[in-house]
Amino acid sequence: MLIGVPKEIKNHEYRIGLTPSGARELASHGHKVLVQRDGGKAIGLTDEMYEKAGAEIVDSAEEIFKRADMIIKVKEPQPVECAMLRPGQILYTYLHLAPDPEQTAALVKSGCTAIAYETVTDRKGGLPLLAPMSEVAGRMSIQAGAHALEKAQGGAGVLLGGVPGVKPANVLVLGGGVVGLNAARMAMGLNARVTILDRSLDRLKYIDELYGDRITTLYSTIDTVEELLPHADLVIGAVLIPGAAAPKLVSRAQLKLMKPGSVLVDVAIDQGGCFETSKATTHQNPTFEVDGIIHYCVANMPGGVARTSTFALTNATLPYAVKLANKGVQAMLEDEHLLNGLNVHAGKITFEAVARDLGYDY
Ligand code: NAD
Repeated sequence: MLIGVPKEIKNHEYRIGLTPSGARELASHGHKVLVQRDGGKAIGLTDEMYEKAGAEIVDSAEEIFKRADMIIKVKEPQPVECAMLRPGQILYTYLHLAPDPEQTAALVKSGCTAIAYETVTDRKGGLPLLAPMSEVAGRMSIQAGAHALEKAQGGAGVLLGGVPGVKPANVLVLGGGVVGLNAARMAMGLNARVTILDRSLDRLKYIDELYGDRITTLYSTIDTVEELLPHADLVIGAVLIPGAAAPKLVSRAQLKLMKPGSVLVDVAIDQGGCFETSKATTHQNPTFEVDGIIHYCVANMPGGVARTSTFALTNATLPYAVKLANKGVQAMLEDEHLLNGLNVHAGKITFEAVARDLGYDY
């Protein structure tokens, strides 16, 4: 199969859909990969690396969309990209169609076969192509929070790990899923005192078995949150109720319970945020203050570490890319988890929640 990897064109997007190693794996299965010139340059993946991996460097996105049987990307296609897709062509990328009627209409019109990373499933009921970005965001939340706690950033001037003779900071993690567990790991690694809250007893049990007395696990209630806020230096918002807006776990009134200069990092901001006072920010201007509390609410945290995120993404997407390249759409009939990723096919919406939300036949 001829596989095309265009340069991402969304504002400040430096990731690329495939690493040179990924290109080499696909080539080893007898496929040909086209990569747009300078597609990975911003994160140190040069055209020479792709050429060495057996890929062909192509000057324009137009040529890639024209020639390739399958397009591998990172972000949802922008209108100019949707216009280049054609019937039968496979698009394999993050789509997030439900809140995006324009993109959905353009993909339906194109006649392409669009597979969304975020709805591919695994045997354990997880979302394996979403998880790597949650791992990145979870780990990054602690370094973002630690930075925001510095005096010059408006924070209380607290070092997470303390030093001998000075007590470490208290980190409160709301939600013990992929983001929360990765945040907790990083915080523990910096010697902070970590408490993690969840509503899933199975999840709390799992975390307890993993870390024992190095971490405090607590069932998440309004009372528990209120009890812990006065002691927290850094709070990570990492809750998710699939398919729903994030529940608000800290109200504006409750900010008064916190110490001035404490920091809230709302990773769940892409689902509306779990603090009442959160509003989405960017890497250029990541924090703001409300009632003396510093808020960090960057909606696309993995984009800030685009190189790491690109490698993490290819690790997860490559096995399915190989299956799709080997067998085309037939690969989905042989793998129900990959089939769950199918959102649009031949002018029809093939994912129930998207069809329902946007009023398409299903
Ligand atoms: P996940 O499903 O692995 O974990 C969510 C956890 O929240 C679950 O364990 C669930 O039981 C728990 N939970 C639900 N309600 C709760 C409550 N009231 N109190 C405590 N815990 C509760 O999800 P995830 O992959 O960890 O993602 C978490 C959030 O981070 C999602 O909204 C996701 O979209 C977001 N995210 C944001 C970025 C970013 O750049 N900002 C990047 C990746 C993920």
